[in-house]
Amino acid sequence: MTKQDETIHDVVMIGAGPAALTAAIYTTREEIDTVLYEKAIIGGLAATTDWIDNYPGYSDGVAGMRLADELRGQAERFGAQIEFGEVQKIEKENNIIKLTTDGGEVKAKAVLIATGSSYRKLGVPGEEEFYSRGVHYCATCDGAFYADKRLAVIGGGNSGVQEALFLTRFASHIDLIVRSDLRASEVLIRKLEEASDKITVHTQVTVDEITNLDDKVTGVKIRSRKTDETRLIEADGVFVFIGLLPNTDFLKDSQIELDEVGLIKSDHNLQTSMPGVFVAGDVRSGATMQIASAVGDGATAALKIREYLESLN
Ligand SMILES: Cc1cc2nc3c(=O)[nH]c(=O)nc-3n(C[C@H](O)[C@H](O)[C@H](O)COP(=O)(O)OP(=O)(O)OC[C@H]3O[C@@H](n4cnc5c(N)ncnc54)[C@H](O)[C@@H]3O)c2cc1C
Repeated sequence: MTKQDETIHDVVMIGAGPAALTAAIYTTREEIDTVLYEKAIIGGLAATTDWIDNYPGYSDGVAGMRLADELRGQAERFGAQIEFGEVQKIEKENNIIKLTTDGGEVKAKAVLIATGSSYRKLGVPGEEEFYSRGVHYCATCDGAFYADKRLAVIGGGNSGVQEALFLTRFASHIDLIVRSDLRASEVLIRKLEEASDKITVHTQVTVDEITNLDDKVTGVKIRSRKTDETRLIEADGVFVFIGLLPNTDFLKDSQIELDEVGLIKSDHNLQTSMPGVFVAGDVRSGATMQIASAVGDGATAALKIREYLESLN
């Protein structure tokens, strides 16, 4: 049964990843009534990451789950209320923003969208099973675990090539697997040619499977799109860069403007095209997709939300 809550909260945050939890620390400390809606895991993508080596303040690195727990504890200490539920729609009437969730309607004077984005998956056997322990989607985050190891990188666009080049700092060799032809910029293609002793490019091939032995990734089985022949590329780890899927489906019929890949556009105050609705973290157009940047966005958005709420009085 759905419920109708007539309370008008100061701010409702959509998502409870690092961006929203940080924003909630700031708003609740200033006694701004704050409710977060989270559809999956408190801590977002960061909570699902095994080990985070590049988040400031942890000289030995930190487990993703621990960082998520710390952020949650800090936000709750100041009074943040976290509800489980998926926000499905956002509308605005007379300065009040109405959110439809799977548990009913919620109203707020201001809203922060911090729903992140999901990495597009290959959808092949082995991918789900070895997520974050052999199959990765973030080279900056996980590349250093592969010092002197062989890697397979999937994706021939700018991010695939750029990340393959970045991974040469660690890996002994990289096989770059490309579905059609390389679609990266000329500059990147030139750099790729310069790195030909470390990167072997395979074009016009698809991935059938991520192979494993004794619970460890052993490589990828690729299939030629021309001859249909298959072969095994040996690798200790696989990095997939075939695009991002922003978590913005629920905004499709709203007035909130998205960019060409579906990320949310904002002004320099992180306010979206719907006044009173702000955006922070990975889902913001122009975001750098790192936890440190997401928490920075969260803090900025919270301060701008405070200014916005003051302007309503
Ligand atoms: C495998 C992996 C490893 C990574 N390692 C690192 C690393 O080492 N260092 C680093 O800096 N970054 C790393 N990243 C990136 C980092 O996790 C993200 O940059 C960061 O989590 C972004 O925070 P966010 O709050 O913007 O979004 P997210 O963490 O994605 O959180 C968004 C939350 O919103 C929720 N949500 C989405 N839609 C809705 C909805 N409609 N209603 C309610 N809730 C919703 C989601 O369930 C999610 O919990 C890694 C990412 C991955 C996938």
